[in-house]
Amino acid sequence: MNAYSNNQTIIYHNGEFLKPEAATGSLYSQTLHYGNGVFEGIRSYETPKGAKIFKAKEHYKRLKYGAEVMGIPFNYTVEELTAITYDLLKRNNLEDAYIRPLITTGANMGLYTSKESILTMQCWEWGKLMGDKLLRVMTSSFERPNPKSCFVEAKVTGHYINSILSTNEAKDAGFDEALLLDMHGNVAECSGANIFMEKNGKLYTPKKGSIMAGITRSTILEICQEEGIPVEEKHFKLDELKQADSSFFTGTAAEVVGLKSLDEYEFPLRWTDSLGFKLMQLYQQEVLGQRKNKFSKAL
Ligand code: PMP
Repeated sequence: MNAYSNNQTIIYHNGEFLKPEAATGSLYSQTLHYGNGVFEGIRSYETPKGAKIFKAKEHYKRLKYGAEVMGIPFNYTVEELTAITYDLLKRNNLEDAYIRPLITTGANMGLYTSKESILTMQCWEWGKLMGDKLLRVMTSSFERPNPKSCFVEAKVTGHYINSILSTNEAKDAGFDEALLLDMHGNVAECSGANIFMEKNGKLYTPKKGSIMAGITRSTILEICQEEGIPVEEKHFKLDELKQADSSFFTGTAAEVVGLKSLDEYEFPLRWTDSLGFKLMQLYQQEVLGQRKNKFSKAL
């Protein structure tokens, strides 16, 4: 047992619903040795109409894209994956849950992708990954990977070494989270979330290219468009971020969370007066299917 499972927990593993301890896997798996696996982080929410998986299609498309670019055989359709997820939630009696599908590769100590793959899916109750309090963030000495070194938009298990190194560095130095730059010195993203900054009533977020362009980031961009909140995707440097009024991170696990400071710089705008705070509330409504005034600005 651990923080993610208990005596009642059921997981999906290789075509069956099982207790976690009944699942077997190979110690020669390429995922274990070389990080060649792909995964997703999805949330489902309790709504009056029952459990609602937020953007299942987008998450499972990204999972399939990851398998494809890594050459991992994977034949489940988005619809099958979604149905398995709802079934798994039901078997675990969960509606508000975090869902973790993982595709591992078979026994192969060579470096050509294994021709076998196994889908495992777990779910558990999980609060906001980074909590609710404003974060003290440190600029990492680690950069995000060069997009020519891997497929940065694929959620490949091995890519998370970069996230772990930067998180360790930040936490060991007494901060909450790490912010990483790209190879050109542009602000990229947090170890497991995207970043937005607010300046003079407008939001900015790094352009795609060196970042995992998150599903939450896209949702925030859509909400901004529909609510008439000005937002622009552009490259910017650290000194620009350190003149911003406010800043926040977005991610499925983190949802929307504000920043208190970045290194020595304290964001001056009160969080509750910021666009980030407003978007945090709108995002909650969106995931629950309760956002009312869509297009209100346009009408
Ligand atoms: N960046 C990184 C590096 C991530 O791991 C994640 C989490 N998948 C995100 C951003 C946010 O992505 P999403 O909003 O799709 O969860």
